[in-house]
Amino acid sequence: MSSIQTGRGKRRRKFEDEVDSHSENEEEIVVEDHKPELTPDKLKEPKDTYIPQPQKQQEQPSRSKYIDEEDISSNDKRRKFDLLHQKDTSTTSRNHKRNDHNQWELEQYQKAQQIMNTTKITKDDLDKVNLPDNDKYEYVFDDSQYVNFNEIEEDDELKGDDQPQKPDLIEKERISIAEVRQSLPVYKFRSHFLEAMDKNQVLIVVGETGSGKTTQLPQYLYEAGYSQGDKNLIIGCTQPRRVAATSVATRVAQEMNVKLGKEVGYSVRFDDKSSKDTVIKYLTDGMLLREFLTDSKLLKYSVIMIDEAHERTLSTEILLSLLKDILTTRHDLKVIIASATINAEKFSNYFHQASILNIPGRRFPVKIHYTKNPEANYIQAAITTIFQIHLTQPLPGDILVFLTGQEEIESMEESLQESIIKLGSSLENHLQVLSIYSNLPIDLQKKIFEPTLPHTRKVILATNIAETSITIDGISYVIDPGYVKQNVYNPTQAMESLVVVPCSKASVDQRAGRAGRIGPGKCFRLFTKWSYYNELDANTTPEILRVNLSSVILLLLSLGINDLINFDFLDKPNSKHIIKSLELLYSLGCINSKGSLTKLGLKLSKFPLDPMLSKCLITSEKFNCVLEIITIISMLGESSTLFYRPKDKQEIASKKHASFDSPLGDHFSLLNVSQQWENSDFSNQWCQEYFVQYKTLRRVKNVRDQLIKLCQRNKINVNETISINPLYIQKSLISGYFPNIVKLSMMGDTYKKLKSSNVATPCYIHPSSSIFKIKPIPKLLLYHELVLTSKEYMRNCMIIDEKLIKEYGSHYYSPQEL
Ligand code: ADP
Ligand code: MG
Repeated sequence: MSSIQTGRGKRRRKFEDEVDSHSENEEEIVVEDHKPELTPDKLKEPKDTYIPQPQKQQEQPSRSKYIDEEDISSNDKRRKFDLLHQKDTSTTSRNHKRNDHNQWELEQYQKAQQIMNTTKITKDDLDKVNLPDNDKYEYVFDDSQYVNFNEIEEDDELKGDDQPQKPDLIEKERISIAEVRQSLPVYKFRSHFLEAMDKNQVLIVVGETGSGKTTQLPQYLYEAGYSQGDKNLIIGCTQPRRVAATSVATRVAQEMNVKLGKEVGYSVRFDDKSSKDTVIKYLTDGMLLREFLTDSKLLKYSVIMIDEAHERTLSTEILLSLLKDILTTRHDLKVIIASATINAEKFSNYFHQASILNIPGRRFPVKIHYTKNPEANYIQAAITTIFQIHLTQPLPGDILVFLTGQEEIESMEESLQESIIKLGSSLENHLQVLSIYSNLPIDLQKKIFEPTLPHTRKVILATNIAETSITIDGISYVIDPGYVKQNVYNPTQAMESLVVVPCSKASVDQRAGRAGRIGPGKCFRLFTKWSYYNELDANTTPEILRVNLSSVILLLLSLGINDLINFDFLDKPNSKHIIKSLELLYSLGCINSKGSLTKLGLKLSKFPLDPMLSKCLITSEKFNCVLEIITIISMLGESSTLFYRPKDKQEIASKKHASFDSPLGDHFSLLNVSQQWENSDFSNQWCQEYFVQYKTLRRVKNVRDQLIKLCQRNKINVNETISINPLYIQKSLISGYFPNIVKLSMMGDTYKKLKSSNVATPCYIHPSSSIFKIKPIPKLLLYHELVLTSKEYMRNCMIIDEKLIKEYGSHYYSPQEL
């Protein structure tokens, strides 16, 4: 084994033996009736290469470094790891581990900051990937820096399907679209499918991701005349994620050779690209749910395909219930439920034993590699693994990395790009970094589908979207840290927060499957095999069992469904959740004491927003500040990706960002950003000058424009006012957000919820907040959302006055609380 090179600057060392910890000792892949066309992986010739490695090991240990893995058993290793993280192994969960780790990381970071003689952790740092600065890196390649993966054992394989076939990817560009369509697994089942559609009102379709369900089935239906009637009827296909809806619609328009928005269109929140000509429409499940408000029998549709039903999103489940109901009167409506195998039976039972059509998959087997030890910093581990793969595995074969969100993706992309530049010509083959997440503009989405260039390996950083919603061809390697970001509601504390949690087994297996489309693949799990078998839940908890239901309940009430207790849910939500949501709707004035919808409730339901936000909007009319509130609402949704700080201009960027800070809090700072951008005539140059993401502001503007239109449609006055009293803005915001008020605790360093019946979880101001450093520490705050990382952080806070709480919260808080 080689030693770590020291000293600054680029140093080379020979790439020695034992370089491929993955492929060593792998068993031969044996698949019956199938000879993989790709040559089995073999080691590349030794060569000179560089790989980034941290110089200060004691401050940034890679997980495999601080445990002597040779002489302890795996359980001992775990214990040792846990001890290092000072926690009780008996209650260990990967989630806690991550949180503790974050805490630990933060401490390490602060230590490092002290050493570097700087003051405190700054507001942008917390969300950054914790990679040490580049100038502290050595660019030497050393296998001791590699992430340590287990040797493959017999059970470490995701079995392939019976007759996997290698798609002719290289040829794909040259063969016609018709040929590509015919090469998809669903094609063979076309007539079978149409026959089943003819015979059944509800059909469950089960098939491997990438088999062509989403793009092909609606086209088959269209070709078979399902959209023809007295007038053009629509074949609708729902998607849980907006990026899937837009990307698939784009693809299908291309396949049908029509302009997007004409025959093929999409509809996602704040973005509608459909017209009266549209016959195939991809839309988010949430959007179709909203269509029930204006078309309660969905008369515009001849077929509804509920896609990705296994994801069990809240909107999808409510849709299934509503569809089940209207099917009894709309005998001409057909419903397809497309799902992965796991939940097919459940859907079939729910729809009175509906037929199931199985489309056999064609997946190759995928070898699963686990890390020997828990990885303390999965971002770091993922970056290292990318280079490990790139340097040792043959081309072609792209890499797909699963991350939890846009912020994580953007910072990792930046780190990777920098490393690639530094590695320069030492990389024999080019590494092209691409990303996909829900807010990515359509033109950039397209890039991931472009064929990989010769001598190039694509590495795609994706959120959960790439798990089943969209299929990217050419992937041979999957890197899976095993985490996902979820919205979790705790009814006892009446707190909803965004949390990064470990994935379920079903989910990580789906992810691994993405590596087996073009040939036998490999999946690198950045967690241990022990963790997979002992810590992961079997399936992801359906959203309906874990989120705040107030939006959906308001919608159901406005559809005239009042008896929630007897509503035919696929899985009944926890009654505590229902009661808490009803309580919230009552305190917002959306329902009366009998539980019936009020006029205000009906008004609020017209907006595709959380009822708390819609309430602020409705109140703002009274104070003549609708435009400001709309702007704030639009900005709040995008605030986490608003600012950036280039490494070489951190100080100046921070100063520019601070220039927006308002002493009243983040809501006003966000308003400042938007107003100043507007004053610059929405200029890109202004954004560059202030280190603000132009594309984020463009999105904000789009949402804002849509909300303005919605207000106008609902006869809400959106006139511009010359000067607004900030008090009016505060009043509007508190009218909806009175439940999110916290007061400074006796200890004076944390906040707790004002409502004393809620358990007192300590909350902290997020370091990105403009009032993070304000002195004296404000006594009362209103927060927009809670984000649970190492602590419960309040993101986007506003300072408020006791008088205002009395004015707007007296119906919610008891006199003792006020
Ligand atoms: P399924 O719904 O069964 O997972 P899809 O219909 O989404 O399968 O995908 C079928 C094929 O179409 C896949 O090979 C995928 O690569 C291709 N495809 C899907 N969307 C796009 C797109 N936006 N651009 C290019 N190819 C796409
Ligand atoms: Mg699909």
